Amino acid sequence: MIKLPPLSLYIHIPWCIKKCYYCDFHSYTLKNELPEQKYITHLLNDLQNDIKLISDRKVNSIFIGGGTPSLFNEKTIQYLLYGINERLLLASNAEITIETNPSMVEINRFSKYKQVGINRISIGVQSFNTNKLIKLGRMHSSKESIHALSLVAGLNLHSFNIDLMHGLPNQSLNQAMFDLKKAINLLPPHISWYQLTIEPNTKFGYHKPILPNDKILWQIFSKGNKILRKSGYQQYEISSYAKSGHQSKHNLNYWRFGDYIGIGCGAHGKISFNNGRILRTIKTKHPYKYMNGNYIHQQKEVNQLDRPFEFFMNRFRLLEEIPKQDFINYTGLIENTIRNQLDNAIDQGYITETKLNWQITNKGTLFLNFLLMLFL
Ligand code: SF4
Repeated sequence: MIKLPPLSLYIHIPWCIKKCYYCDFHSYTLKNELPEQKYITHLLNDLQNDIKLISDRKVNSIFIGGGTPSLFNEKTIQYLLYGINERLLLASNAEITIETNPSMVEINRFSKYKQVGINRISIGVQSFNTNKLIKLGRMHSSKESIHALSLVAGLNLHSFNIDLMHGLPNQSLNQAMFDLKKAINLLPPHISWYQLTIEPNTKFGYHKPILPNDKILWQIFSKGNKILRKSGYQQYEISSYAKSGHQSKHNLNYWRFGDYIGIGCGAHGKISFNNGRILRTIKTKHPYKYMNGNYIHQQKEVNQLDRPFEFFMNRFRLLEEIPKQDFINYTGLIENTIRNQLDNAIDQGYITETKLNWQITNKGTLFLNFLLMLFL
């Protein structure tokens, strides 16, 4: 049997003005007019179909991601949120996030998003060095980011986030620290500070830029981590730092092996059932096919053998203690099924154990792939 975990809703909007050189997210360069209204109608139909999987469960967070969702104007977002409210039971304190880029058109929508029910804005800043932004293929300038952040800070939203990268092409320790300090000075309650990785099938994948060497990368991480902590941010996940009370509810639910409905092109979902089933869903990727009403690409049961790996792959990203009861509740398995793997992980210094909890160690975080392999 499974105890049902908290439930979230992810909405994917797959268009961007232009593809950034490092990006392997599921997004398309916008070639024609944005089909805002048509796409929202299909999102709501897609949601309607998924409702039968969750009966009357309450949704605790909504994340509108992409792509660039802020290409959609506030009226469309309002229509979407209204349609969701009509179909779902939404917690009164639900966190509702939209991802945005800091270009002028999108910045002007921020206060209107708040008026229609968005209470958290995530801004893709990536760097405050305009030359570096150009090298990444970003469409905005440092000046626009600063303007966007001062504007969002004045909106009195529940929270907001800055996405900031480090380890950029030819980036020095000083340049990385300049970016980080600049971000901190703008007082965001949440910073996602993550290292650039080169992914296949991206422009950088085909034409590799010169990245800082391992020594500089390590200096950037360790110095940046100290600065963030000293500035009152708690690192709660590998790349996520938050002021007290500002951790992302939505992301925490993913990493705690919670459930989520995923609607929109290529969106992933995970739904648990009282009878012990866990279902993973993937929606149709291509907008043309999706907007013809073919929403489901794949639905797959998670079998019992795969559950420990799936559970820990998410949970070990978080630096918090892992209640053993969560493993039992959300996988439907007993601790003994993974006793050998746990003993091995403890022997190698990757985790520690008490009667009620497991805790990943610094070594476990550094050698996360080795740790996870034990549960494969
Ligand atoms: S704006 Fe975001 S989703 Fe769009 S191409 Fe750039 S990184 Fe990818």
